[in-house]
Amino acid sequence: MDYGPAPESQKEAQAWLDGHQRKFGLFIDNAWSEPAELFASTNPADGAQLAELTQATDADVERAVEAARRALPVWQGMGGHGRAKVMYALARLLQKHARLFAVLETLDNGKTIRETRDIDLPLAARHFYHHAGWAQLQSEEFADYRAVGVVGQIVPWNFPLLMLSWKIAPALAAGNTVVFKPAEFTSLTAMLFAELCVQAGVPAGVVNIVTGDGRVGSAIVNHPGVDKIAFTGSTEVGRLIREATAGSGKKLSLELGGKSPFIVFEDADLDGAVEGLVDSIWFNQGQVCCAGSRLLVQESIQERFLNKVRARMENLRLGSPLDKSMDVGALVDPVQRQRIAALVDSARAEGCDVWQPACELPADGSWFPPTLITGASTSAAVAQAEIFGPVLVAMSFRTPPEAVQLANNTVYGLAASVWTESISLALDIAPAIKAGVVWINSANQFDAACGFGGYRESGFGREGGREGMLEYMTALAEDARPALPVVEAKAKAAAKPAAADPFAIDRTAKMYIGGKQARPDSAYSAPVFGANGALLAEVGVGSRKDIRNAVEAAHKASGWTGATAHNRAQVLYYIAENLAARADEFAARIAAMTGNKNPEKEVQASIERLFYYAAWADKYDGLAHQPPTKGITVALNEAVGVIGIVCPNEAPLLGFISLVAPAIALGNRVVVVPSEAHPLSALDLYQVFDTSDLPGGVVNIISGNADELARTLATHADIDAVWRHDGSAEGCAEVERLSAGTLKRTWVGGAKGRDWYSAAQSGGRAVLAHASQVKNVWIPYGV
Ligand code: NDP
Repeated sequence: MDYGPAPESQKEAQAWLDGHQRKFGLFIDNAWSEPAELFASTNPADGAQLAELTQATDADVERAVEAARRALPVWQGMGGHGRAKVMYALARLLQKHARLFAVLETLDNGKTIRETRDIDLPLAARHFYHHAGWAQLQSEEFADYRAVGVVGQIVPWNFPLLMLSWKIAPALAAGNTVVFKPAEFTSLTAMLFAELCVQAGVPAGVVNIVTGDGRVGSAIVNHPGVDKIAFTGSTEVGRLIREATAGSGKKLSLELGGKSPFIVFEDADLDGAVEGLVDSIWFNQGQVCCAGSRLLVQESIQERFLNKVRARMENLRLGSPLDKSMDVGALVDPVQRQRIAALVDSARAEGCDVWQPACELPADGSWFPPTLITGASTSAAVAQAEIFGPVLVAMSFRTPPEAVQLANNTVYGLAASVWTESISLALDIAPAIKAGVVWINSANQFDAACGFGGYRESGFGREGGREGMLEYMTALAEDARPALPVVEAKAKAAAKPAAADPFAIDRTAKMYIGGKQARPDSAYSAPVFGANGALLAEVGVGSRKDIRNAVEAAHKASGWTGATAHNRAQVLYYIAENLAARADEFAARIAAMTGNKNPEKEVQASIERLFYYAAWADKYDGLAHQPPTKGITVALNEAVGVIGIVCPNEAPLLGFISLVAPAIALGNRVVVVPSEAHPLSALDLYQVFDTSDLPGGVVNIISGNADELARTLATHADIDAVWRHDGSAEGCAEVERLSAGTLKRTWVGGAKGRDWYSAAQSGGRAVLAHASQVKNVWIPYGV
């Protein structure tokens, strides 16, 4: 039996293009601009030109942002139900025109009609349905939040319409307006979507679509009238955007590259795993950020499994993407083909075995055969770089710990797929993998109800689910923050030193690393003066080396992350109890440092804050989603890892506790720079920690110059997040800029102040969200 040709008709799609004279302007304020400065969009399967699109200028982006700004009150004024109705209409229209969209997407992108018809379109419609629901429920479910404002959204070419839906649906649901840029290679379905917006009754200016290359993306990123940037694309451009937005106050979410492991244990259903692998790496020609591009297979079954994989590869059908029986379509552009070919050539040059099934590539267009690479070292380019093509790199492992080690041996952390018939093994491996999504006995599953997004250099922020909605909202408490921090200038020495106790002056407050007091590596100390100018003590001047030691200690304390939430809560209560026992001492210290007339209030608030986060430690639970598949998706709030924290100068004890307590409550370990002006009460805390069963290395305290230490924290490769809240606008901008190196998560306060006594401003889920990252684990259930 053989396959005959089964082409999908392209008549309607071609007619739609003809109806637009194959030329498109920009969609701004619900109107089309005259096409200008045109660039071509071609069909990657045969190189034929499909249409011409307009390269937007800076002035066009300006117009789009202005339109979006004007539309904000209109869109928000419609209320949740009003927005839900429009979004529901969009979902219905997407379904009604599903085939036209699917064919147009296949023509423009080169992906098979089977995928656009059965995956991209249903998921895109589902996204609008699901988020119509969030719009409806917003005032109830997100009562403490408001829309961010004007959102700039930039997407790549691999899932043009689906990425549009992932971006636009949550933004609209939350009451934002958008300026959206599709990828230059694949803008056509966005043009068709613009027409649906008008039909669905989206008010003018709510959705604006500007086409063009990276310069248009850059203009959106740099526009001061944009309040948030949501980007999907390469890690390289993600880094540029992180740097460009540093210090601007723009909210940012980045969904970047991946090098996701596909792990097959010896007890797996091997045939099922082979099919999963097909969906994982040959789906969309491997041009998928979460493609299972690294096969890790247990040594005992390696040969048998690879033989099955090769046999399956022989049967993959590559050819016209409009043919309904094709498995593999065309690559988006010859540039991608060259990039993939260069990486595969590098594998050959390094002595790897490169295997490809006998497969005839069409003469025209951009194609690459399914490829299996074996014999690559873990450091080979093909084992580390995102190939973004139909290329699988296979390696073996012997034991589950080795599988985890190999899985995590990448700078990325987007997704992983785990195959075993042992539920205990699967659920043992899932938490050990550093990735935002783990599929058990499945691969490349997506749903609007389930968050998607990465750890590490795969970016931050989530798309889909409740956490995805939060990316498009701002907590109302943020608006209530005072305009300026009550920064107390560093107290200066009195003209005449106060008569002091010589023994007290001799006292040097040490730093705290790995549960031990530590002298600064630099062997420098700096004086700390009290409010009255008297010398209170000397503190160590921390340096790069001290931070390095502290980070090492924090990593060694990983047992804290594995400890139960109940245990962590107990330790926090115990810290509160021991602080209460020394309340007078701490109050006296605060008074001496700051001149605070009511220092007892700060100590009591600190004790209460410790109770507050102890209470949260075992209550910040995840969710169990029920996507429309045979499974459940468990969304777990995992610790971020090691967090560097720069504390505020006002409320030196309460500020310290308000930042450290949520971080450690959720299992993070911290390296903390206490208030530069008033560091002593934080340094005194070691006595409390030592008596409260806090394991060494969970909290490390390095005193010294906040700017210098923050710089070191932001550039340290083994720190996962940096928080800075000392009111330094420049310092916060620098943290954001430098964090781009390893794409750390940041939480900075900027120049504004924060009421550290207010639970609304210094507590709640918004703070806990900074201290955690959501991992979505897809588990077969009721299959
Ligand atoms: P890019 O990251 O370059 O492009 C993604 C989007 O960003 C596109 O709309 C692009 O515009 C736009 N863009 C480009 N430069 C800038 C900039 N300086 N500022 C703002 N926006 C910008 O990915 P590519 O499409 O070039 O693909 C290159 C590689 O990136 C791939 O081979 C793959 O490895 C990886 N990639 C990863 C994706 C993922 O989802 N993880 C998705 C796509 C690519 P335009 O393309 O129109 O010029």
